[in-house]
Amino acid sequence: MSRSIGVYQKWLDETVSDLVSRGEVPSLLLHACCAPCSSYCVEYLSKYFDITVFFYNPNIDSITEYERRVREEERFISSFPAQRPVRLISKKYEPEAFYEAAEGLYSEPEGGRRCEKCFRLRLSKTAEYAKENGFDYFTTTLSISPLKDAALLNSIGDELSKKYDVPYLFSEFKKRGGFLRSTELSKEYKLYRQDYCGCVFSKRERAKQKEKEKDNEVTDDGRGVSRSLGRQVPKGD
Ligand code: SF4
Repeated sequence: MSRSIGVYQKWLDETVSDLVSRGEVPSLLLHACCAPCSSYCVEYLSKYFDITVFFYNPNIDSITEYERRVREEERFISSFPAQRPVRLISKKYEPEAFYEAAEGLYSEPEGGRRCEKCFRLRLSKTAEYAKENGFDYFTTTLSISPLKDAALLNSIGDELSKKYDVPYLFSEFKKRGGFLRSTELSKEYKLYRQDYCGCVFSKRERAKQKEKEKDNEVTDDGRGVSRSLGRQVPKGD
């Protein structure tokens, strides 16, 4: 059965095919949120671009988590046999930029209006850096996640491309098995894979979900365990 590759992957295919036919290898500033998400993107894109990974994620909930993700990114880049050398630039942790951008939207669910501000903040910094440093393209690994809105990411990228006059590499990395490949590479390189998106609000949301999942656990005899009540209740009640 054929799998839809989506419009953004199709555009990426066309860009790559143009570059290959002209024998060009442009420079690409690749915004990355974490090592697992960048693993597949680096494997795929390093065949066609001279990549610099750009780690700018002020949304991350703590400096400890920020540094842990940076270390994993460094470890992956230094051990992965990419087709061309890959560099890493990690920016200073500045959580105040995120809280300012997301002000008034702290209680939004993941995938809501807070995320749009968060995408815009991270992509704006990437576009600005790409412009100041003469990159041929910029893009982000964020579209590899099945939870992220690729249309929104690509429209923000397009808007910033016009503002900063640097081409945005349209993409939807989850297509063609990209997400699955990132999970395989994460296992192979034993990458730290966090179970929440990044901000403190997504961390709390995930903790609540886990608590719910625990409450709905089913015992071997088919009876649900109500942990909050501390007693067994019949399944389906
Ligand atoms: S859930 Fe993820 S994308 Fe949304 S605001 Fe938090 S860190 Fe950013």
